[in-house]
Formats: sequence, structure tokens, C-alpha cells
Amino acid sequence: SNKKRVVILGAGYGGVIAAQGLGKLAKKLNLDITLVNKHNYHQMVTRLHEPAGGFAEGDEVRIPLKRLVNDNVKLIKDWVEAIDPVNKQVTLKEQVVAYDYLVIGLGSDPEYFCIPGLQEHSYTLRSLNAARLIKTQIEGSLAKYKVESQSEEGLLNIVVGGAGFTGIELLGELAEWLPVVAPKYDVNVKDIRLICVEAAPTVMPGFDEELSIKAADILRNKGVELKIGTPVKEVTQDYVMIGDEKIPTKLMIWTGGVRGNSVLEDSGFTTQRGRANINEFLQSTNFEDVFIIGDSSIYYDENGRPLPPTAQIAMQQGEHLVHNIERLLTGQEMTPFVFINRGIIASIGPKEAVGIVFGKRVSGLLAVYLKRLVHYRYLFIFGGIPLVIQGFLGQFIPQV
Ligand code: NAD
Repeated sequence: SNKKRVVILGAGYGGVIAAQGLGKLAKKLNLDITLVNKHNYHQMVTRLHEPAGGFAEGDEVRIPLKRLVNDNVKLIKDWVEAIDPVNKQVTLKEQVVAYDYLVIGLGSDPEYFCIPGLQEHSYTLRSLNAARLIKTQIEGSLAKYKVESQSEEGLLNIVVGGAGFTGIELLGELAEWLPVVAPKYDVNVKDIRLICVEAAPTVMPGFDEELSIKAADILRNKGVELKIGTPVKEVTQDYVMIGDEKIPTKLMIWTGGVRGNSVLEDSGFTTQRGRANINEFLQSTNFEDVFIIGDSSIYYDENGRPLPPTAQIAMQQGEHLVHNIERLLTGQEMTPFVFINRGIIASIGPKEAVGIVFGKRVSGLLAVYLKRLVHYRYLFIFGGIPLVIQGFLGQFIPQV
């Protein structure tokens, strides 16, 4: 047929919005749309600290893709191994798919900065299963601590490397959960050390100073040891080197930053820290039939500063991409992407949050409620009122 084949890689915040929007235009534009994702569900990466800290099981933070896109979108559950932008095809583990237009929304990978032992001996918060692994490791250590008479050194030391937004949200969650879970294993919570290591002189470097001081105070009051201005230098399976200090631990969680998904670099795209260069229309600067959105690409704002890798930006880019593909295929000029910054809120456990919303500082209960509102707004965009109601009930009934 003369249908244009559009292949979307990744069902993250950008990919889902793109698949939904293009799905609605499939008939009008005569499109054959395929969405490829490693799971048959979308995971809310922005909420992974919750299952890591035991306050969510999993089904609260994932939504089956069938529930999100219409029947015009063919779903393939597979792993993207390589992209061949010259021959316009993508190699998956199980098959090869050809495209006329490609949309890449494959997100990011952890950035390890070549720190010795870090990749091999740390945990990350990059997927639901990774989050659940952290929770299981903590519970395992608590159980072990009571059973083994010669307990391993540092068994109850939990180290979080990096105090950006991801680190802060994880610490907040763990600090609330540990006093709940420790007694279940007959462990005195005072025997647990929750340590945060940050290389910069403050937590949340680059963020509003007043709010980052507030976040640090909240965490300290919850018993978190903050080691600020000292980089993680080396990690082994028994300890972490923080500056010149050696901290024994079996659980080092790395939240020290991200880089673009390695598939892009490996497939011949020009990248910066793994994020592919794109033009103002969201097209790859190397191949104009490839659009790249979210963390997988790097976009410079009107002041020449790169936009950060956030869900908010990925969603806006997904929406803009649909608009641009529609214009492209109907012979109109595409329009440049403009980011509308609605703000940012970090939760610090279930009961605290700090943020900037439409340019104003928020904290305390107001911030907690605004954060919830952001979540319900996201559910509304993704699935209308029915998804909001399911989100409120806390489950999305995945067909895994
Ligand atoms: P990040 O890059 O923002 O933070 C990483 C932190 O690790 C930095 O503070 C950095 O100084 C520190 N670091 C780097 N190397 C180190 C070392 N060797 N030792 C100790 N510390 C080291 O990464 P992130 O927190 O994962 O955030 C990624 C993006 O996602 C950001 O743009 C962030 O704003 C966004 N985000 C937003 C939210 C939210 O809106 N609530 C939540 C999570 C992440």
C-alpha cells in the first residue's frame, strides 16, 4: 500500500503522547503506525522512588499500553538493538522493522562518569524492576542482619550517590519507609545509616537556593546523613570511597545523572553526552526523516541553554512532534518547538515537597497537593477521566 510507515521507539512520556496523537491521525494521513517498547506497559519513571521505598507495589506506576493507544497503533514488545538510519530500518531482538519516518523516544541511561567500580557495584532507579530490586535488597539486609551472628560490615548502610531531584525524592521516600519496615524485621531503625553523597556544594545544585536548603533540612530532620561537596570516587562490593572516607556498604544507589540512550551514539547520530542533536522541528540533524524527543535528544532553548531531561519536556515534544508530522505530510511548513515551563516539584517522602510552580516557590502541604495535581493532570492527558479514576483507586490492572 502507499501508507507511510511511522515507527515509534519507546513508550515513555514522549513516545506515548506521539503514538496517541498519530494514532488519531492515522486515517487522515494514511499512516501505518508501530510502537515498539521493551515492556507491554508504560512506566511512570518519575514515580519510581515510591516502589523503591515500599509505598507502592508496582501496578500504581505502570499502565498497559493497550489501554493508552488506539487500534491504529500496532504494538511490538521487543528490545531495540540498533537503528540503521541510512537503510531506514530498526533491528529488534526478534525482528527487523522498516520505516518511512522514525520517532525515537528511548530515554536515557545512567551516567557513570568512568568512576571505578560504580557501574558494576551500584543500583539505579531506572525502571520499575530496578526500583523493586532496591526494596528487596533493603528487606534482605534487614533479615540477614538479625539472622547472621557475624553480620557483614556496613550491611545496614544505604548510600545514595547524587543529590539531584532523583536522589532527593528517593532519600525522602526511604527516610519515611525505613522506620516502618525496620521493626518488621526486629531491627532498630537507629542501626540503619541512610547516607547521601553529593559532589556539588549543595543538594539540588542549580535549583532555587532557599528551597534546596529547605530540602536539606527536611532530610536531615528525617535522619539522613548528608555529605555535601564530596564526590563518590570509587565503589566496590564492600565499600564506597567518598573523598578520602571509606564507607562500608552493600547497597550503593546511583542517582548521579543521566546520558542519552546508548543506541543513538552507536547508530551514527551526532550526540552530546549520548543525547542526539536535533533541529528546532525536533528532527535529527543527521537524518531528517528521524524525529528524536525527550531524554534521547538535546534541545537548546532561545538562550542557547540545553533543556534538562524531564518528563514535562518529553510530553510537550511528543505533542509538538504530532503537530509537525501532520504539517509535514500535508505540505505545510513545520513550526519550531517552544518549551512552556510550568515548573518543577520534588517530593520528599509522601508528606513533604518543594518546588517552583509558574515561577513561585512552593513547599509543605501546598507543594504536596500540587504534585498530586501534576500527577492527575498527566493521567488525564494520557487517558482522560477513566484513567484519573483508576489512578485514584491506585491500580491500572496490567496484562503482563
Ligand atoms: P542530575 O544530573 O540532575 O543530578 C545528579 C546529581 O549527582 C548532581 O547533583 C551531581 O552534582 C551529583 N553527582 C555527579 N557526580 C557525582 C559524584 N561523583 N559524587 C557525588 N555526586 C555526584 O540527575 P537526576 O537527579 O537524575 O535528574 C535528571 C533530570 O530529571 C533533571 O533534569 C531533574 O531535574 C529531572 N528530575 C525531575 C524530577 C521532578 O520533577 N520531581 C524528579 C527527578 C528528576
